[in-house]
Amino acid sequence: MPARALLPDRSDEPTWLRPAGCNSVLKYTGDPALQREIRDEAAAYFERTGIARDGGVRMLVKSLIIVAWVVTTYLLMLFVATQTWQFILLAFSMGLALAGVGFSIQHDGGHGAYSAHPWVSRAAALALDAIGGSSYMWHYKHNVLHHTYPNVEQVDDDISQAPWLRLSSTDPYFPIHRYQFVYSWLLYIFMTPKWLFVDDFKRLFTQRAGPRRVPPPTRRGIATLVLGKIFAYSWMLVIPLSIHGASWSMFGLYVLIAWVWGVAMAITFQLAHCNDTAEFGNWPGEGKPMEMGWAEQQIATTVNFSQGNPVLTWYLGGLNYQIEHHLFPKVCHIHYPGLSAVVKDVCERRGVTYRVQPTMWSALRSHIGHLKRMGAAA
Ligand SMILES: [Zn+2]
Repeated sequence: MPARALLPDRSDEPTWLRPAGCNSVLKYTGDPALQREIRDEAAAYFERTGIARDGGVRMLVKSLIIVAWVVTTYLLMLFVATQTWQFILLAFSMGLALAGVGFSIQHDGGHGAYSAHPWVSRAAALALDAIGGSSYMWHYKHNVLHHTYPNVEQVDDDISQAPWLRLSSTDPYFPIHRYQFVYSWLLYIFMTPKWLFVDDFKRLFTQRAGPRRVPPPTRRGIATLVLGKIFAYSWMLVIPLSIHGASWSMFGLYVLIAWVWGVAMAITFQLAHCNDTAEFGNWPGEGKPMEMGWAEQQIATTVNFSQGNPVLTWYLGGLNYQIEHHLFPKVCHIHYPGLSAVVKDVCERRGVTYRVQPTMWSALRSHIGHLKRMGAAA
């Protein structure tokens, strides 16, 4: 496969993403040699093994399993379950299944990595709209801001959780942050409801994702968002409430689903980026370039975890190999374990630190350590 196809979409900030009042574009000017070497070695890997970088039939089968998981859980909740314990188990199942749709279908689709056919990837990206998010707004928030500038304050919207959480040293400090390593787990109850019912609309109307501008919405973008919300609200709210009726038990069920879904999603991101070994960077300021090169930045701000756990790798859509995902966002996640050996090799040769936590629990300890450190008095 041509090495060029493995390059990221862009490594410079598009002009429309400038912060208000800023006239310069945020550029990477560090040494591009590391990026070139990783790209060439990865191209050689695909050449040598003869495998295609898209998902193929494996992704189709995986997607069908996950969709069946969601639909079965949904139907059991609507028509079969009668006991409280059954509803509680199904709420856990639904939360994990919805997160799974994001990890293994929508995420690859949104990056254009799901299939060799762009329309198939676009269809997979719409899985996010089907579960209540917006593939249109996600593109700017995730593909552009987070992926181009991971862990860069004032740019990467994913680490902007202030004032609720203090994830980086430039966030404002409040004494309550001392307890964020405990209360953050409860805050995740609000994560998906806020995203589904507030944030997407806010981003659309304000044309901003966190501190950054996003371009004026297109008609197609608005239509996708509105139709997606109508579809998702119908199956998530209208149908269940018309069958079971509104009650405190139903409310509790929604809270439980939201909590499981939120924790699963948050933890996958936090373990990879917000821990006590990943680096954080400040926005370099008006007219100044990024300190590191693009590939160096991706590797320094990202940590892999639990690499030897095939079940977790399957469920998380390869996002425990987050370094490879950041270096090859346009390559389907099923190839990340194979690519990790390639990347690790290049890093060792060049003396670049390749960060891995051996298990999910050690990664969790590292994340809690980060929350405690950021929560200590500034
Ligand atoms: Zn991504």
